[in-house]
Amino acid sequence: MLNAAKEGRRTMAEDTLDVADQAVQSYQKELIFSQGTEGHSQLSLVRLALERLRDGTFGECMHCGKAIGEKRLDALPSTPYCIECQEKIETGQIEGVVRAA
Ligand SMILES: [Zn+2]
Repeated sequence: MLNAAKEGRRTMAEDTLDVADQAVQSYQKELIFSQGTEGHSQLSLVRLALERLRDGTFGECMHCGKAIGEKRLDALPSTPYCIECQEKIETGQIEGVVRAA
C-alpha cells in the first residue's frame, strides 16, 4: 500500500516534468514564430501586390492614387505607396493603409 502511494507520487513528478518540458517546447516554438513576423508582414505585402495586380491598381499609390515610379517598383515590387507617401508614413504624417489594417 505504502509502496503503491510512493509509486503514484513518483509518476506524478514525472508527469509534472513532462508538462514543464512541453511548456518549454511550445515557448520555443512561439519564439521562433514571433521572430518570423517580419517575414510574415512582407508576405502580406506581396499578397496585397498580387491582389492589386488582379484589380488593375498595381503601380498606383494606395494613399494618393498617383503612379508609383517605375524605378521604385523595380526595387520594391510589393510597395503599396509612392515615395512621397512612404516618406510621410515613415515620418508619421499620414497613416499607412497596410499598417492600419
Ligand atoms: Zn502616394
